[in-house]
Amino acid sequence: MSWFTRDKADDEKLPTLGINERKVRTEGLWQKCEGCRQIIWKKDLEANWNVCPKCGAHSRIDAANRLKLLIDGGEYTRFDTALCSSDPLGFVDSKPYSERLRAMRQATSLCDAMIAAEGTLDGRPVQICAMEPRFIGGSMGSVVGEMITRAIERALERRQPLLIVSASGGARMQEGAISLMQMAKISAGLMRLDEARLPYISILTDPTTGGVTASYAMLGDLNIAEPGALIGFAGPRVIEQTIRQKLPEGFQRSEFLLKHGMLDAVVPRLELKPYVSIALKFFVA
Ligand SMILES: [Zn+2]
Repeated sequence: MSWFTRDKADDEKLPTLGINERKVRTEGLWQKCEGCRQIIWKKDLEANWNVCPKCGAHSRIDAANRLKLLIDGGEYTRFDTALCSSDPLGFVDSKPYSERLRAMRQATSLCDAMIAAEGTLDGRPVQICAMEPRFIGGSMGSVVGEMITRAIERALERRQPLLIVSASGGARMQEGAISLMQMAKISAGLMRLDEARLPYISILTDPTTGGVTASYAMLGDLNIAEPGALIGFAGPRVIEQTIRQKLPEGFQRSEFLLKHGMLDAVVPRLELKPYVSIALKFFVA
């Protein structure tokens, strides 16, 4: 049995982007910043890539905006747009996984929790994968695993750098061990990229946890994170219960991890593109 299918019937039912955009506009004009608790005009926040203009707190952005931020002119070619999970375990939690997938596809206009694309970053062609945090918590199942593996294969074939922007709750529980197998599959692919001396830059955003942290998010030639992002394997409550100790302030946030040697840099969202551009110049030129 295949772990994913191309579900044409479902594709056709997807709402167009225009409908989604209209919905967003009616949701309210103001938003409370989670950092400074001030009320901010939503348009100001969006114009600043969801970085609070008053305190600099980084709110989440979706995969499409992430690509717009990093890729020249926001123009790119997408791959594997119709790769869908076939629900290989027939999993049911509070509702059937197949239903959950259908609802997520409608809400995000994506087949799974990732956009894989090719575009240029400051004129340099790159393969880029951006995770979609709204799609079942940006969890990694068979489709995300396959999309990243194919992106690695394209990078090898075309001799291009690879960027992966993580935003994920970890492996997708509804695909059980099959999700966990993606960790090994992607890691093996990244090894081949390394042997071919092609750079892989991992960008960790809020949140990057579980099996994603335990595999590709930490395997970059450079691992860089956005400020204040939650990055970890197990949650703080589980760790506290296991080691029976109170965890220090700021534990599992980007700045703490940088200080303790788990990251190479913490880079604000608005400086991300020039930073990656300079890094690629260093690796490739
Ligand atoms: Zn703020």
